[in-house]
Amino acid sequence: MGDPRNDFDQLLQQRRWLDPIPPALQRAYRAQRLEEFTRLVRLWAPLLPISVIAFLAFTLTFYTAELHGPDLTLLLSTEGLTVVLILSGLLVAYQPAWRLSFDRWIPWVFGLITALKVVVGFMLSSALLAVNQVYITLLVLMIGTLALQLPIRACLKGCVLGALPFLALPWLTDIHYGLLFLGHYLLTACVVMFVVAVREDKDRMMFLQSMQFSHERQEVQRLNVELAELARKDALTGLPNRRVFDEALRTEWDRARRNRASLALLMIDVDYFKRYNDRYGHPAGDHCLTEIAGAIGAVVRRPGDVAARYGGEEFVILLPATTEEGACELAARLIARIDALQLPHEASLTAPFVTVSIGVSVCVPLGATNAQSLTDEADAALYEAKGAGRHTIHCRTVGQAEGHQANPGAT
Ligand code: GH3
Ligand code: MG
Ligand code: MG
Repeated sequence: MGDPRNDFDQLLQQRRWLDPIPPALQRAYRAQRLEEFTRLVRLWAPLLPISVIAFLAFTLTFYTAELHGPDLTLLLSTEGLTVVLILSGLLVAYQPAWRLSFDRWIPWVFGLITALKVVVGFMLSSALLAVNQVYITLLVLMIGTLALQLPIRACLKGCVLGALPFLALPWLTDIHYGLLFLGHYLLTACVVMFVVAVREDKDRMMFLQSMQFSHERQEVQRLNVELAELARKDALTGLPNRRVFDEALRTEWDRARRNRASLALLMIDVDYFKRYNDRYGHPAGDHCLTEIAGAIGAVVRRPGDVAARYGGEEFVILLPATTEEGACELAARLIARIDALQLPHEASLTAPFVTVSIGVSVCVPLGATNAQSLTDEADAALYEAKGAGRHTIHCRTVGQAEGHQANPGAT
């Protein structure tokens, strides 16, 4: 199977009348039909026995003169049997295990009731009652095929089963009546089968459209998730981007202010990176940034820490609940890790390999300070680190005028 979206488009475009549901979707289609059947059973459960009783009441009211002797006994007993058959059918339909195979057993119940009506039609001695029986049989045929919205094959099976008593036609005393009854039966069966086929085709079509719709909805949801992820990721390095950092800084600043906790920020800048690009080319520069991003990602281990690409060849690491000591220790580890990569940088004025400078700022947010002051101080500390010869760490505490070199051993 290729792209399911194209498959659905193609399926719907090339679909001909009554084309079967593709095998891969048949399970889902059956499940949907079963759901519809269950809904209809609930709807029809009280109506079916009531309609039988209404038919009987109609006959008893309008055919008083004809209803006596064996005809009355025959009608009463067969209507009783019909009610029993309908109630048993409903009882079975309420059993979840049996409901699953509704299209197999319902035609038998429906066919049996119809056949019973036909047989009674043959046995009634009053001509008027017999004609009434023909109409009632045709009504049963219509209700049976249309009410429960059975599949075409099940409806056909019910109609054929119901027509079996017509095989006794040659032995009937009134062959003319028998043929007329058969003619009406066949005509009605053809009409209802056509209606059933039209409905089934529409059901299949609507099912495919609903599948296409739900598939498209899933696809849109998936793309939304993907898009949201992409909007938060730096395309080159795979690290979270500036937007994520800005959000995290706001959140962590507020949290640190509430908890009176220390918040630290590392601003990392690649030394002489312009020279690197000039010497090795832009693609090699990109690769170098990816390597450095990998090293940054590897030193950040606590769940709350956020490492992100700040822009160009600058990265940041936000460290909640971290003191100056902890932040400088992590910065020293990062410098050591990047040094260990030994990425050649012949154009650098600090070392024969790629190095970084790190500005660290630390703050316990209080009073009038804001989150921007943390980035400003980290930027200032980085500037100091650059001025001090690069490949080093400088640290500043928000609110204090002077910065100082941290962990000189790292250089
Ligand atoms: P310093 O040691 O003072 O930081 O010097 P520098 O050369 O690293 O700093 P400068 O700001 O002069 O140059 C930064 C360079 O980083 C210039 C720019 O072309 C390069 N750069 C920024 N983003 C990317 C990128 O995504 N890929 C590559 N290959 N280069 C980048
Ligand atoms: Mg820079
Ligand atoms: Mg730089």
